[in-house]
Amino acid sequence: MEARITLLPGDGIGPEIVEQAKRVLDTIAQKYDHQFETPSCPMGGNAIDEFGDPLPAETLETCKASDAILLGAVGGPKWDDPSAKTRPEAGLLKIRKELGLFANLRPIKPYSELLDASPLKREIIEGTDILFFRELTGGIYFGESGRMEHPDGEKAFSVMTYTTKEIARIVRLAAEAARNRGGKLTSVDKANVLEVSRLWRQVAADVVKNEFPDLEYDVVLVDAMAMHLISRPSDFDVVVTGNMFGDILTDEGSMLPGSLGLLPSASLGSDGPGLYEPIHGSAPDIAGKGIANPLATILATAMLFRHSLNLETEATAIEEAVARVVAAGHRTADIAAGGKSISTTEMGDCVIQELS
Ligand code: ATP
Ligand code: MG
Repeated sequence: MEARITLLPGDGIGPEIVEQAKRVLDTIAQKYDHQFETPSCPMGGNAIDEFGDPLPAETLETCKASDAILLGAVGGPKWDDPSAKTRPEAGLLKIRKELGLFANLRPIKPYSELLDASPLKREIIEGTDILFFRELTGGIYFGESGRMEHPDGEKAFSVMTYTTKEIARIVRLAAEAARNRGGKLTSVDKANVLEVSRLWRQVAADVVKNEFPDLEYDVVLVDAMAMHLISRPSDFDVVVTGNMFGDILTDEGSMLPGSLGLLPSASLGSDGPGLYEPIHGSAPDIAGKGIANPLATILATAMLFRHSLNLETEATAIEEAVARVVAAGHRTADIAAGGKSISTTEMGDCVIQELS
């Protein structure tokens, strides 16, 4: 197939890890006879330095005209001044909004060879394979907010809202994924207290009943979910929830596999390109040292093949290659537990060798 995959290397370790993911893209293109066009565009702190804008118009246009986008990471101490006119992260929020990326997907599937890297007991994590769907463009982070005078000092509010349409579209995506995995769906809310959660629960149940009647489905309250996630994570499969609950639960979940350097994510809209990136940040403390773990970004590339290009064979090939590399004992410093470690490029070499 022919596809255009726009690369946004970003700041810090972003360019180093995207370089390895690009080598994986090239290897897949060669092996499966695809033609990928891979323009690389400025975004984040580097784009502020060069154009005074974290998401220059030309970058946005190129992204809109592509089939998928692969992002490294943005930000760093250089652009952290809170009084600055604009910040690298503003570029990220803008691109999500411009592309209507309302669904954030995070798979949490610890490698059995790395279970000891996790703060949790091996018996608890073993067998865990969760796919989170976090709503990304609505809820309390985008609701009305403000401050007012109050006899006690000040009063502030942030409102959580969801519409039927916003709930239905993310539940539908999650339910489709659950069906494709042959698994089950869990919706997480706080319906015992919040009216917005009662609508969430009602709409989710309707979508499942009308469109996915055979799907195994249950609901869990968010406070209980926070406990279950570390006491019995292997009982869950696809989990769908709102923006803030998803933010908190996915960070909690990211501790299960032990290292941030292994976890990819995808942000999807109803049509148009999806955005794929590692969940970690730009790691300024190790930028330029050639020791960053490129596996999260390489695994994000696998998600890109699966969700935007519909190339399941290629996606699985990448995931299995990474699993074999980990099983063979190859480790970058973040997962080496003080033992022998290899560089970013060497880790890329290992994956490419497994693929070809
Ligand atoms: P952000 O605000 O951009 O999310 P952050 O401050 O939350 O950034 P990260 O940049 O994700 O943090 O880094 C957190 C820690 O994890 C750092 O010590 C960093 O070096 C390490 N880290 C993050 N990503 C990787 C990676 N790919 N390989 C190795 N170490 C990493
Ligand atoms: Mg962070």
